[in-house]
Amino acid sequence: MTKTSSYDVAVIGGGIAGAAIAGEAASRGLQVLLLEKNEFGSGTSSRSSKLIHGGLRYLELAGYFFLRCRFKESWKNFSFVFSSIRESQILRKTHPDLIEPHPILLPIYRSSPRSRWLIFLGTALYGIMAFGAGNRRFPHFLLSPEKALRQVPSLRKEGLLGGVVLWENLTDDRALVNRIIQSALEKGATALPHALVLHYCYDNAGKVYRIRTKTEGTEKVFEAKQLVNATGPWVDQTRQRVSQTRDAFVLPIAGAHIELKQFTPYSCLLQAEDHRFFFVINIHGVSRVGTTEREWADPDHVEPTDEEMTYLINSLKYYFPSIAFSKNQIIRSDAGVRPLARPAAESKANQVSREHAIFQTGDGVYHVVGVKLTDHRRAAIEVVNRTERK
Ligand SMILES: Cc1cc2nc3c(=O)[nH]c(=O)nc-3n(C[C@H](O)[C@H](O)[C@H](O)COP(=O)(O)OP(=O)(O)OC[C@H]3O[C@@H](n4cnc5c(N)ncnc54)[C@H](O)[C@@H]3O)c2cc1C
Repeated sequence: MTKTSSYDVAVIGGGIAGAAIAGEAASRGLQVLLLEKNEFGSGTSSRSSKLIHGGLRYLELAGYFFLRCRFKESWKNFSFVFSSIRESQILRKTHPDLIEPHPILLPIYRSSPRSRWLIFLGTALYGIMAFGAGNRRFPHFLLSPEKALRQVPSLRKEGLLGGVVLWENLTDDRALVNRIIQSALEKGATALPHALVLHYCYDNAGKVYRIRTKTEGTEKVFEAKQLVNATGPWVDQTRQRVSQTRDAFVLPIAGAHIELKQFTPYSCLLQAEDHRFFFVINIHGVSRVGTTEREWADPDHVEPTDEEMTYLINSLKYYFPSIAFSKNQIIRSDAGVRPLARPAAESKANQVSREHAIFQTGDGVYHVVGVKLTDHRRAAIEVVNRTERK
């Protein structure tokens, strides 16, 4: 076993969260070490819907809690949407070649659980929030079925009332992780792929953490004054490497996507039979369709299930009745596990806040969960502020 040099901060996990924390710490002149057991961005951060967005769905959730007089949860979701919209604007300026505005059509049907005017009101509010954050692209309201069909002629006609074209941002999630790591390296950080963290402990005498890693069969020990666990859906497994823990920080919710040859001129936001929203996102001639939600605790072995693929294909068949969809047309599929911050009380997966959370355990280690692609910058600033204060 070889021992190597000492760092100010060591970060475990090279997804969007770990990359952003390493980048933020390096930009403040700290000596940073980033350790990733596989390739950078190979976890959840490369299995997303590829959107940098505020999340219209979370705005609806804010309304849902408001109507039930659960004002704290309502405000949490509302402010999450606003800060995500603001982050989207900032990220578009810092990575203009990786994050670009992308129009998405939200068709409105008579069968929708929300009325047309409620949807117009919600999307207008979303547009006003985006405008306030500096996005000058306001939603475009399509007040008749003909106008919606002009955008996507193959859409289901029965019950169609109109639609809204929203502006979100499309990114290449994995390239974004690699870009942030590249800029951390340029600021002096050390980033090691294929470095599995086996164990860590705090050495009271030396006032450092000792982090034992394994790279291609060779074990090494690194030392760092501060330690951050940013292993996303593996956060609890990483903690369990050093101590028996009963409480869980993560609520692991898997989500799947399927990819088909592009079949619609516009990306769409649709509502499945169970009223869950799902996206059809056009990326370079491919339509990426998803996503789903199911609790799944093993992020090392996550694949789209047959049931998930059937659910997505059936949802497409409903909205595009003239296209003969089948599972044979799936070019690619993938699944990832959302590392949501586990709520104190039992909640439905689609009602859990998507705000990140930072926990500190008795050994002083920071554990960060629930970081979305969209809010990675804000989460990283918070984590590094806390490590610096300490
Ligand atoms: C289906 C789906 C769609 C999504 N769509 C969007 C979207 O459109 N927009 C958006 O903003 N967000 C989206 N998200 C959320 C977002 O993708 C995740 O919240 C985010 O990628 C989590 O990043 P992370 O760095 O915390 O975790 P990860 O990306 O999983 O990174 C954790 C890393 O830790 C490494 N690791 C684990 N254990 C160890 C160890 N012992 N030693 C060293 N390394 C270790 C893993 O290999 C992994 O690379 C989506 C998520 C899902 C599942």
